[in-house]
Amino acid sequence: MSKQYVFHFKEAYGLGKELLGGKGAGLAEMTHIGVPIPQGFTITTEACNLYYESGKKLPEFLVKDVKDAIKVVEKETGKNFGGNKNPLLVSVRSGARVSMPGMMDTILNLGLNDTTVEVLAKETSNERFAYDSYRRFILMFTNIAKGHPRTAMDKMLEELKEEKGYKLDTEVKADELKELVKKYKQYYKETFKEDFPSDPYVQLMEAVTAVFRSWDNPRANVYRMMNNIPYSWGTAVNVQSMAFGNKGETSGTGVAFSRNPGTGEKVVSAEYLPNAQGEDVVAGIRTPLHIDELQKRMPDVYKQFMDTIKLMEKHYRDMQDMEFTVEDGKLYFLQTRNGKRTPAAALKIACDLVDEGLIDEKEAVLRIDAMSFDKLLLPAFDKDDLAKATPIATGLAAGPGAGTGKLAFTAEEAEERHANGEKVVLVRAETSPEDIVGMVAAEAVLTMRGGMTSHAAVVARGMGKCCVCGCSEAVIDEEKRTVTINGKVYTDQDVFSLDGSTGKVYLGTIKTVMPDLTSGYFGRLMKWVDENRTLKVRTNADTPRDAKQAREFGAQGIGLCRTEHMFFDKDRIFSMRKMILADTKEQREAALAELEPMQQKDFEDLYEIMEGLNVNVRLLDPPLHEFLPQEESLIEELANAIGKTVEQVKDRIGELHEANPMMGHRGCRLAVTYPEICKMQTTAIIKAAINVSKKTGKLVKPEIMVPLVLEVKELKFVKNIICATADKLIAESGLNLKYHVGTMIEIPRAALLADEIAQEAEFFSFGTNDLTQMTFGFSRDDVTKFLPDYYSNKIFEEDPFKTLDQNGVGKLVDMAVKLGRSTNKHLHIGVCCETGGEAKSIEFYHKAGLDYVSCSPFRVPVARLAAAQAAIKEKLAK
Ligand code: PEP
Ligand code: MG
Repeated sequence: MSKQYVFHFKEAYGLGKELLGGKGAGLAEMTHIGVPIPQGFTITTEACNLYYESGKKLPEFLVKDVKDAIKVVEKETGKNFGGNKNPLLVSVRSGARVSMPGMMDTILNLGLNDTTVEVLAKETSNERFAYDSYRRFILMFTNIAKGHPRTAMDKMLEELKEEKGYKLDTEVKADELKELVKKYKQYYKETFKEDFPSDPYVQLMEAVTAVFRSWDNPRANVYRMMNNIPYSWGTAVNVQSMAFGNKGETSGTGVAFSRNPGTGEKVVSAEYLPNAQGEDVVAGIRTPLHIDELQKRMPDVYKQFMDTIKLMEKHYRDMQDMEFTVEDGKLYFLQTRNGKRTPAAALKIACDLVDEGLIDEKEAVLRIDAMSFDKLLLPAFDKDDLAKATPIATGLAAGPGAGTGKLAFTAEEAEERHANGEKVVLVRAETSPEDIVGMVAAEAVLTMRGGMTSHAAVVARGMGKCCVCGCSEAVIDEEKRTVTINGKVYTDQDVFSLDGSTGKVYLGTIKTVMPDLTSGYFGRLMKWVDENRTLKVRTNADTPRDAKQAREFGAQGIGLCRTEHMFFDKDRIFSMRKMILADTKEQREAALAELEPMQQKDFEDLYEIMEGLNVNVRLLDPPLHEFLPQEESLIEELANAIGKTVEQVKDRIGELHEANPMMGHRGCRLAVTYPEICKMQTTAIIKAAINVSKKTGKLVKPEIMVPLVLEVKELKFVKNIICATADKLIAESGLNLKYHVGTMIEIPRAALLADEIAQEAEFFSFGTNDLTQMTFGFSRDDVTKFLPDYYSNKIFEEDPFKTLDQNGVGKLVDMAVKLGRSTNKHLHIGVCCETGGEAKSIEFYHKAGLDYVSCSPFRVPVARLAAAQAAIKEKLAK
């Protein structure tokens, strides 16, 4: 039997992407599981190779096979290719094994000619639509199949619009489009010295040849080389019948999610627009109706629609986002993919899929996007307060969370009022990409038009922004800057509260609350997360509020307490300044003695909240001048209080000025110069630990961290001060209190000499804020000024201060871990910087063998999830 090069979707299941291409295999799979899709066929990748082997020609038998395949599709659809009744039109698409942007675009509505266009016009009762499709087809064919630039044809349309005074393509009338079609054909004839092919088979063969040709075009070749795609793979061609939702009242189109993408609720969330094309829905021009409309009009179709959705969910084991069309009472799904969803919906769906037996717990953990997980921690309206409120309007629940603010009518207004400290709700008839700045600035977004896939809805969900859209009860007049609901007019001084989970709009402010993180879906998922991760998660906290919050989020200790933050309080800064300006050691010690009880109290609070978990306190780190006043009046006040002249104080401030303070007198260098600071802090840390241990009967586990170390002798010097101070206090207390001394690794030299440093350190904590700064030589405070140029010039894709630079800084981390453990096998290692709360970096730290990551309280759940995902992925890869 001779080789088969053309497969109908119905017979192609299981033949694989290698032969059918990704798209073809997908269409075959959908057909196989029973999804009604517009039928058609795939011409295989082997046919593509054959085309090249035959000297870039379609062999005769292949042409015949394709013609035969069309005949089958005609039979299946009851339509006629090129016929003067119920014409069969097809789309032609390329489809390689992997998706390849360098290749041919899609040609739609192939099969249109002077006869079929008239039939289409009649059948859709829409001459304008038919001729617009025809015009586009000629353009696509000329441009894509014949590879001719579209400029001249585009210009013809522009000239026509100009002549008629139209702004939009949609304003062009049917008759005018007819004329344009004539011009296009004339142009085609002049360019190619032949008539535009009216025979649909000729059109088809040209299109198929063009797809094969596109496999070898320069764009595709470059893409293939960049992505290591072998030339021998070839591309397949998919020929699929077109379905029209605009053929009258038994036709229509819509989009559907198999579950609610906003809340995750297990109900199909779908919209339907009778007698319309998909474009009408996506563009948000007409607000679609509830899917009930389909049930009312065509109950059988509705049933098939619901059954098919169930089928697809079961097959793909995930929530699906689908496009569908009904043509003359016949249902077709045009596409399905795993649907985008809010973080809350993702959580509920993952848990539900576990309950339904479709996925296991590990898979559920992997299904959650770690980086948007913190959006779950968004506020929602207080239930009691909400129960008392009456909605004034209801739209679609398009974006998560809840938001309250005064009405702003343009993006600029929202941005400006937000900058002035006002909370605003952006209200627009519909949004467009220019509105993004306003959407960012607003607490919530309300639109009058557009469905769940309109611009506002898609963007808001991506941002995790509360959004209610398609709220037709709210008549928004952007010019007058008013919203009218039920005859009542609201202005920029009125406050609206929007509930993104129900789509309800309320007048006035409603109290918001944080979600419950211990029970329900969050609690369930976090249990699976904690069962699977090996990396511990601590928090960076220096206030009781942060420490408490972090514990609620599941922090397993404090990984970094930046003590300097504690000195900025009103009642402390003065003593701090006195300490800095002291002329003698005695004066300095006197000022430190004032600070000591306050520090001690700070630590006691933190220890009590952490209830026996490790608390890592870092010694004073920033350059001292940061604590000194700049304003004349403050300088004067300080001078008076310490019995110095303004000049003397200014001189001292001048002395402390550094050309490059981040690389200056800071970190452990301060302890080298002023050991008494280190002594005071150690005293406060240990005394607080003794007190809390005695009070609670549970021994506190303090860790004392020395910042900015670059040399083992430097660490030893500071450690000696710490140990002498601490050991004396502990001996006096009679407690068996254990404390640990370690260092941050945040200077490249420390990473390079980690084996030496580890001999004096019980722990390492990587600080990639400084380590990145010093490795790149980029000032962390100024980097935002020039990083955008690095993005636009494609030198960097990510901010290395946010996501660990694995190639460079990561190499230092890896090396320091190995070197450190080579001389101290008990070395405990963590990380305590921005990248400690970033998912990709966390995966790296997991692989590097760290014991924990530490991050800001709100990122603790993110870090727990990312740590679990890293562990699960590693296991699955084995
Ligand atoms: C660091 O450098 O990464 C770090 C955590 O310390 P800081 O940001 O306080 O300099
Ligand atoms: Mg640092």
